[in-house]
Amino acid sequence: MTCALLTHADCLDHRPGDRHPESPARLEAVLSELDRAGLTRTWRRVEAPLVTRAQLERVHHPAYLDEVEQVAPKTGTYRLEADTVMSPGTLAAASRAAGAVVHAVDLVMGGAARSAFCATRPPGHHARAGEAMGFCIYGNLAVGAAHAMAEHGVTRIAIADFDVHRGNGTESMFRRDARVLMADSFQHPYYPRGEFPERDGYIPLRLAAGDDSKAFRRLWRDAALPALRAFRPQLVLVSAGFDAHRDDPLADIRLEAADYRWLTHELRDIAEDSAQGRIVSVLEGGYGLANIGPAVAAHLMALGDCTH
Ligand SMILES: [Zn+2]
Repeated sequence: MTCALLTHADCLDHRPGDRHPESPARLEAVLSELDRAGLTRTWRRVEAPLVTRAQLERVHHPAYLDEVEQVAPKTGTYRLEADTVMSPGTLAAASRAAGAVVHAVDLVMGGAARSAFCATRPPGHHARAGEAMGFCIYGNLAVGAAHAMAEHGVTRIAIADFDVHRGNGTESMFRRDARVLMADSFQHPYYPRGEFPERDGYIPLRLAAGDDSKAFRRLWRDAALPALRAFRPQLVLVSAGFDAHRDDPLADIRLEAADYRWLTHELRDIAEDSAQGRIVSVLEGGYGLANIGPAVAAHLMALGDCTH
C-alpha cells in the first residue's frame, strides 16, 4: 500500500508574525517528528503543486480571489481580517496548501496511493467562499472535495473534522450539496462564535471545555461514525486539527495522541468499507509545538500501513 505525504517548502514561508500562533515552527515540528518516527521512510514525499484559479473558483467567489491577489504584500504584512495575516510568502503557501489536497485526491482516486496526508499551512477550514477567516485563506479541503466531485465523478464524500474549532467554512460551502456528509467535533461555545445550522448533511459534535477522551470518543462513536458508515462514502476526507490536545495552548479539550489514533482507525475502517480505502487527511490547527508532532505521527500510523 502506498501512502503519500504532500508538502512543500513554500508552506514554511507564510509568516503571519512572531507572536502569531500559526507559525512556520508548527510545520517544522511536524516534519521533524515524522522523520524521527521513521514515517518519512514509508510515506512517499510528494511536492504539493500550486492550485489553479479554476480549482479555487469551485468554492470561492472570483472577487475574493482577486482581492487576495491584489492585497498580497511585497514586503511587511497585510491583515486580511482580525486573525488572518499575509506576508510576502503567503500566496504561494496558500496555493500549495490547496493544491496539495487537489493532488492528493487525484492520487487516491487514480489508485497511485491509498492514503494521503497534506502537511501544509495555512490551514483552511474557516475560510468562506468570499472571505478569509481564522488563519485560513483558501478552503483547502473544500477545494479538494469539489475537485473530487467535478473531475472524478464522486457523488458521496464523507468529511470528518476533529479540529477543536468548528469547520464553519467547509460546512458553509457544502450547505446545499447532498453529496457531502460532514461530521465536526469542536469546543462549544468557542471560536467561531455564533450558532450554526442543524441540518441534513452536517453532524455537529459539541464538546465542553474540560472534556477529555471519554466525551470525544462517545460523541464520535454514538453520533457520527454510524452515520458516516451508512452514507457509504466513495472518498473520506479528514480536516485534521490537533488543537483539542490536552497541551494545546489555545483550547480547553483534553485529548491525547491515542485519541487521534483511535478516531483515525475508525475513519479508515469506513474508507475500507465503501471507498476502497481512499482517504485524504489535511492538516488544520494544532499550536502546541511539543505535542503536534507526536499527534500527527499517531494519526499517520493509523492512516495507512505503508510500503514505499
Ligand atoms: Zn483549530
